[in-house]
Amino acid sequence: MGEHCQICGKEYDYVYKVSDKLWKKITGIKNGSGLRCIPCLDKEAREKGIVIYWEGKLDEPNRI
Ligand SMILES: [Zn+2]
Repeated sequence: MGEHCQICGKEYDYVYKVSDKLWKKITGIKNGSGLRCIPCLDKEAREKGIVIYWEGKLDEPNRI
């Protein structure tokens, strides 16, 4: 199980949260839909001059 990144196609099994506002700023997608692995989202953000601060946590946040 896991999600497949819509950019590189790789499967990833970690969970992360990005606000809809930041997601839209990076991907251009409204309503927070779409799937990105962290390396692809990070790369997409950097290409737009945005550096994301990632923080590790042990428990899984509530999924949308
Ligand atoms: Zn990817």
